[in-house]
This record gives sequence, structure tokens and C-alpha cells, in this order.
Amino acid sequence: MMQAGIDTRLLDLYEEMIGSTDLTEVLLRIARVVGEDFDAERTTIYLLREDTQELESVAVVGNVARSIRVPVSPQSLAGYCASCGRAFVVPDAYGDLSGIHPDLRFDQTWDRRNGFRTRDILCVPAVFREQTLGVIQVINRRGGCFDAAALAGLIPVSRLVAYALYHARLYDELLTLKALRKQKASFMRVMVHELKSPVAGSKMLATGLLYARPGDEAVAHAAARIANRMDELLALVEDILNLSRVQQGGVLSDVLVLDLREETARASEPYVTQAAAKGLTLQRHFPSDPVWARFDRQGYQLVVSNLVSNAVKYTATGSVTVRLLPEDDHRAVLEVRDTGIGIPRADLPSIFQEFFRASNVRGGDIKGTGVGLAGVREIVERFGGAIEMDSEEGRGSRFCVRIPRVSGGSDCPISPAVP
Ligand code: ADP
Repeated sequence: MMQAGIDTRLLDLYEEMIGSTDLTEVLLRIARVVGEDFDAERTTIYLLREDTQELESVAVVGNVARSIRVPVSPQSLAGYCASCGRAFVVPDAYGDLSGIHPDLRFDQTWDRRNGFRTRDILCVPAVFREQTLGVIQVINRRGGCFDAAALAGLIPVSRLVAYALYHARLYDELLTLKALRKQKASFMRVMVHELKSPVAGSKMLATGLLYARPGDEAVAHAAARIANRMDELLALVEDILNLSRVQQGGVLSDVLVLDLREETARASEPYVTQAAAKGLTLQRHFPSDPVWARFDRQGYQLVVSNLVSNAVKYTATGSVTVRLLPEDDHRAVLEVRDTGIGIPRADLPSIFQEFFRASNVRGGDIKGTGVGLAGVREIVERFGGAIEMDSEEGRGSRFCVRIPRVSGGSDCPISPAVP
């Protein structure tokens, strides 16, 4: 029967579980503790495999320590437990099981093969967030040793097993996702890199046409259009290369303690004339003292230039304002505000997704790739910052980046750039 000490043992197991990524080891430890506390001849912990709808015994402690698989169905006690998601006691496995389920069968093959006579069984599903993730089965040959109290004692253990299975599943998914993301980024990088030289070459050829046929207006017009399209392609290639480099976990240049005031002024400078050429005013407000932050210099430049170039690009009349300020002792805020076309409300949740462009610009004259903001968010979050935005269609947008500050400056690289 469950000992009083199980509570502290459960806590110990829990502590061990959250510190370990080896699921089998954790489940075996749990099965051993259950086996001792219930004086059981066999304790089996099954994992429910979603892909095949089978239970797979991942931890078996006792007289038959072999891994088996059973379908989730009343063909077996564990299978039935997983399919109905409820706990039950079986007083005699060879007796009448129809009170539990009319089709329930106990397969005696195993017993015959192992010279064993199963009698009492406890079956408890491991459920987390209403989802059955596995089953614990405790078996004895004595008869009459398991009752409702024993079943109740096994419930906290089943919850622990459910946490362990849930965490293992999450951990697996996370690793797969991370690996896939890296693979995708590396694939894009290689592919786009291959694109770069032919595109740059084609642009040179198009420009060369202008000189080969001086005075031919039709050729000049076509060559200029080709060169423009090539520039767009080159911008896309550059954006994707930067994004994939960042997604692969690399930085774009050395990580330094930077004065964000200086960096913001430098990165936003080219857009002053661009804005003026469109009849927009670009106002820039910087604090009088330096604002130090640990950042990848080229990464930060990319953040500023993306946000400011977007603000100028998506604004036809009015103004763009760039403001850097120390929010408090710990954080700096970079705010880029415009009076442009804004973003439709329905598109706001997707705006940082790669290749996403809002419905009010798709297919329009304002060209873009939908890659910039995804990279901006990635870089900002990498350095402990956060980005948020609000926007109203037809009225304008405001992007706000919060970055952790550090005290004092240094020109020494903190970590070298990944080539
Ligand atoms: P793009 O190259 O298309 O500008 P971004 O990733 O930089 O790609 O931005 C994604 C989308 O977010 C844009 O296509 C546009 O729909 C929207 N967007 C970004 N900045 C602004 C802004 N300042 N005003 C309006 N829409 C914006």
C-alpha cells in the first residue's frame, strides 16, 4: 500500500524530472518507486503514441521487463484504460471483466509464457489537460491486495507521469522545430547566395545595353526597367541573406557595447534626403547623453534602417519621427512613427511573420519582400529586447523597440561575428 513517505518521494521525483531530459530514466525511477510502494510484481508505464494509436511500454520494472506495444482498444486492460481515460481496479484478471467493459479481455499468453498468474491490477491513465498521454499499470499475483484506496494513491503518481510525458513531447517538438528552422535558414541562404551573382550579372548586362545602343530610346527604356527589377531582386536577396544568417543563430557583425544614439543617427541619416524628396519631414530626436547597449552593430543598423525605410516608404504625406530615449535605468526605447497608410487591423497579428505583406500593399506599387520585420524582431529579441507596434489604416503606424541598457562603453568585441 502507498506509504506516507510517498509525498516527499513524489517531490524528489518531480525535482529530478524537471532537471532531466532523459524520459526513460525518469519513468523508470517513477516505476521503481511505485513498485516498492505498492509491493508490486510488475509496474509498467506506457506512452501513448499518437502516430500509431498504440501504447508502448517505455518503463517496465518487475518480473517481465520487456517492451511491448498494445492497441488503444478494449483488447487489453491498458489499451482500454487509455481509450476511456479512467482509472480502475481489477480484483482478478482471469475473472469476469464485463463489469468494467463488455468486450474487455485479459490476454493470458504472457502469463503462460512466463509461468505467472496475474491477479490484481491497477490501471490509471496519465492525463494532462484532458489529454491521455500514457497509462500506469501495477500488477500482483496475491489477490485482494488492491482496492479503491490503492487506486487513489496512484493518481498523484499518474499526474507526475503525465507531466513527464508532456514535457518530453514538448521538448522533442521544440528540438525538431529548432532543427527545421535552422535547416530552412541554411537552405535559403545557400539558394539565395546562388541567385546573387546571376542577378548582379544581369543588371550589369542591362546597364551595358544602354552604352551599346546610345540614343535608342526603346532600348534605354527597357534596359532601365530591367535594371530596376534587378535592383528589387538584389534587395530581396540581401534581405533573405540577412534574415537567414540571423535565424541560423549568427550575428551580422561584432557584438559591442554601442552608443545607440550615435548608431541611430548614422543608420537613419540616408532617409532624411529620401523623405525630403517625397515631400515628407523626417524629424529625429536624440537624448543629450549616450545610451549604451550591448548589440551587434550591423544588426542594430538593420533594425533602424528597416523601420525608418518602411516609415518613409509607406507614407505619402505628412511626417516620419524617429525618437531614441532612455526609458528608465534599464531600458532604452527606439520609436519610429509615421503618418502613412497604416496596417489593416486584421493583418496586425501577422506583421512580423516572414514574407507577410499587409493586404493594403499586396499587388500595389510599393515594392517589398515582407522579410525585413521578421529579421528586425529576431535581432531585437536575440539581444533581450522586445518590439511592439500599433497602427491604424489610413492614419499611420508606430513601431517601438525596447532594448536593455548597459553602463559605459567599450570598443572591444564581446563576441566575434560569425562569417
Ligand atoms: P516589406 O519589404 O514588404 O516592407 P517588411 O517585413 O519590412 O517587408 O514589412 C512587412 C509588411 O508590414 C509590409 O509589407 C507592410 O505591409 C507592413 N508595414 C511595415 N511597416 C509599415 C509602415 N510603417 N506602415 C505601413 N505598413 C507597414
